[in-house]
Amino acid sequence: MQTHFTLAQLADPDISDSNAILRACVHCGFCTATCPTYVLLGDELDSPRGRIYLIKEMLEHDRPATSMVVKHIDRCLSCLACMTTCPSGVNYMHLVDHGRRHIARTYRRPLIDRWTRRVLATVLPRPGLFRWALTAARLAQPIRPLLPARLQAMLKLAPRSVGRSAAIGPQVFPAQGSRRMRVALLTGCVQQVIDTGINQATVRLLRRHGAEVVVVPGVGCCGALAHHLGDGVLDRVRANVDAWTAELQRGLDAIVINASGCGTMVKDYGFLLRTDPAYAAKAERVSMLAKDVSEVAQALGVTAGALPGAPRVAYHSACSLQHGQKIHAGPKQLLQNAGFEVVDVPEGHLCCGSAGTYNMLQPELAEALKERKLRNIASVQPEVVAAGNIGCITQLGGAGVPVVHTVELLDWATGGPKPEALEQAVIRR
Ligand code: SF4
Ligand code: SF4
Repeated sequence: MQTHFTLAQLADPDISDSNAILRACVHCGFCTATCPTYVLLGDELDSPRGRIYLIKEMLEHDRPATSMVVKHIDRCLSCLACMTTCPSGVNYMHLVDHGRRHIARTYRRPLIDRWTRRVLATVLPRPGLFRWALTAARLAQPIRPLLPARLQAMLKLAPRSVGRSAAIGPQVFPAQGSRRMRVALLTGCVQQVIDTGINQATVRLLRRHGAEVVVVPGVGCCGALAHHLGDGVLDRVRANVDAWTAELQRGLDAIVINASGCGTMVKDYGFLLRTDPAYAAKAERVSMLAKDVSEVAQALGVTAGALPGAPRVAYHSACSLQHGQKIHAGPKQLLQNAGFEVVDVPEGHLCCGSAGTYNMLQPELAEALKERKLRNIASVQPEVVAAGNIGCITQLGGAGVPVVHTVELLDWATGGPKPEALEQAVIRR
């Protein structure tokens, strides 16, 4: 694609990077076929190619974003299916992130939109505040039909219960047996409130296979939720980089992340801080160490014998894992090695509609994608669904079978307790 940025514009590293991305696009349109919003709406402007044109026009002419541009960029899930399909290696993720920052700088959203986004960016990354908000959401359920549509969507998504076991604070969990690895665990923000069992299962699984697990003080939310809302998160990113860099003195083989949306973000820290001379090298180091829990489980050789009564598992590949981190076969292989029968979900490349805060900001599209995903899951008749991202696990709550994190099944198969969601399903039967 031809671009016409001026030399003055190209002196800005963000413009220079976006220019290179735009020039890689050859308008072939292969990406449209796998874009969930294009599949649903059939509008070129709701396809990756259409959005690329919109961002190009906006940046090239340094124009404030219009409501039309905002509408189509807001509808993008950041699922990155387009990046998997693109034969030219167009980095749509960095381009749309740039577009969103430009929108945040130049467009004044309607009041309700600004309020909703501010609430989400403030509450979700803070576990204490989020826990309190969930209690308030439960109390407000009886008056839900009387509230504005967007508030209804937010309340509908609030889980009926929060994690039962205790959240994990900064500490060191020694390896069982001889130590083969020392890793830092990102305990996350939303996940540690909604489902504390995922971090507990991760720690048990890694320790059982010879990893010392440290939860590093000073590490908080990875910043992904606010970043995708177009907010500035670099101070948060720098704080995490500082905390992990301090721990590096004691030796770290990996930074383990068990929410794939967070993993995609941390793996991009090096890019986000590339122009900061004080942080570029440190952030790159952190990104290189960042690993999805399935990558570390594979490195540790997690495997198990046959598990009596092991349920048939539908593996739902989270977009941030398959498209963002290019991890697809690994988690399935681990489940098979642990004795589970694993079936693929048809249209596995299509997003379930969760996408961070998308299901609260674009409830109609998110609901349509969820229904489609649930139909596809039902078609393979699983007894349990496994996924590697808390957003998907929450979104697929209506699957009719338990939805658990992959790591909970691996923990169970290698000597840990049966996942809570499976126990509850047995009790309900
Ligand atoms: S990130 Fe997903 S929704 Fe956005 S343009 Fe790409 S495929 Fe479409
Ligand atoms: S597939 Fe890649 S090169 Fe083709 S239009 Fe989409 S982004 Fe551009």
